[in-house]
Amino acid sequence: MQRSLLIKPMLNEDYPTISYGKGIYLYDDTGKKYLDGSSGAVTASIGHQVPEIIEAMVNQASKVSFAYRSQFTSKPAEQLAEKLNELVNGEEDYFSFFVNSGSEATETAMKIAIQYWQEKGDYRKQKILSRWMSYHGITIGALSMSGHVKRRERFVPLLAEYPSISAPYCYRCPLSQTTPSCQLACAFELETAINRIGAEHIAAFIAEPIVGASGAALVPPEGYYEKIADICERYNILFIADEVMTGLGRTGKRFGLDHWNVKPDIIALGKGMSAGYTPIAATLVSEKVMEPIINGSASIMSGHTYSANPQSAAISLAVLEYIEKQRLTEKAEEIGSYLFHKLQEVAKDVAIIGDIRGKGLLLGLEFVQDRKTKQPFEAKLALTDLIVKKARENGLLLYPAAAGKDGVQGDAVIIAPPFIITKEETDQLIRILKETLIEIEQDLR
Ligand code: PMP
Repeated sequence: MQRSLLIKPMLNEDYPTISYGKGIYLYDDTGKKYLDGSSGAVTASIGHQVPEIIEAMVNQASKVSFAYRSQFTSKPAEQLAEKLNELVNGEEDYFSFFVNSGSEATETAMKIAIQYWQEKGDYRKQKILSRWMSYHGITIGALSMSGHVKRRERFVPLLAEYPSISAPYCYRCPLSQTTPSCQLACAFELETAINRIGAEHIAAFIAEPIVGASGAALVPPEGYYEKIADICERYNILFIADEVMTGLGRTGKRFGLDHWNVKPDIIALGKGMSAGYTPIAATLVSEKVMEPIINGSASIMSGHTYSANPQSAAISLAVLEYIEKQRLTEKAEEIGSYLFHKLQEVAKDVAIIGDIRGKGLLLGLEFVQDRKTKQPFEAKLALTDLIVKKARENGLLLYPAAAGKDGVQGDAVIIAPPFIITKEETDQLIRILKETLIEIEQDLR
């Protein structure tokens, strides 16, 4: 049995051993080639073995890899914070608090939101509102804000009692409505929840601009985020955008929320920030939120040993510069539309595809027994796992996602290849995907 428990979701199954990666492909130690159709966990956005990143790694390592954050800042960390602020391109400046994972980024966001109100003399605003069908991370604080039923269920007694509202899941509306006649009922649910709980108890509302792991690329109806931002402002509640999956080009814009021209108070970033070349993540905090903290206790009550280490900062900076120089955000949008169109063609021959959704290169497929009734497959069939496994055998990596009402009974995968994928490589992805789904349909019969 393989001994590194950390890397394996299923302990009774041996996984391939990675040997190396190049471009959009990964190779195991038997020489088998895999098309990285999900950028790992929607992370390796610029592909593998990019020479510019390796050069930046070596350059920084030849100077200094680690200096402790409360003893030194570093040029790479400062430049990275500058670059992130420039990318947000907001009316106000954003400051970066560096951490090492998406979970730490959202948990830090939660703490900063609570601290913000305390610095303003308000100690009652402690709750964070979130949505069902959301994922903000695996640590207890981040999981408390997450509406991912399966990831929560073992730990519910430990979790903070944070209330959640319905997800904007138009394919199976949790409020049994249809857009546009619903008039954004799911956004107005935020207002109802605030009125029930009392705005004086709520520090912030957190949402993924496009829902990832807990819904497979759920795009809300038009006007949704404008309404959410308006409600947050009217009720004095901070808006935290969890852009861990959607940030930095993935959806064809710099940030997921840029599709709606809404600026949040706090932004959590991770994954694509280093495109997998090093663990680094960040919580971006607007001037508005920073001001009372700077004028109050003047320190953020959080931090980790590896926060803002110069090695990771240099790598992340090189990744962001690479994305910019190669115009990869624009490419993600262009090739994303091509991939979307190709998926629609696949759906003509594959009846189990119920819905295709997403933006840019964050696309999701939801599977159903019957397209008309949207009847999901029985949970015990574990269809998502079967699809992911068969695709891997066929040389294509997909990311399993939760779907169905509240993410409990439903099957979906995320397709999110690196932004550098060419049209020919996209055609190859589509070929393997179609072959896999046709095999699955035959097995189901
Ligand atoms: N937020 C979102 C939106 C995510 O997709 C993830 C990871 N899937 C996280 C937070 C947690 O990030 P990490 O796994 O790096 O802790």
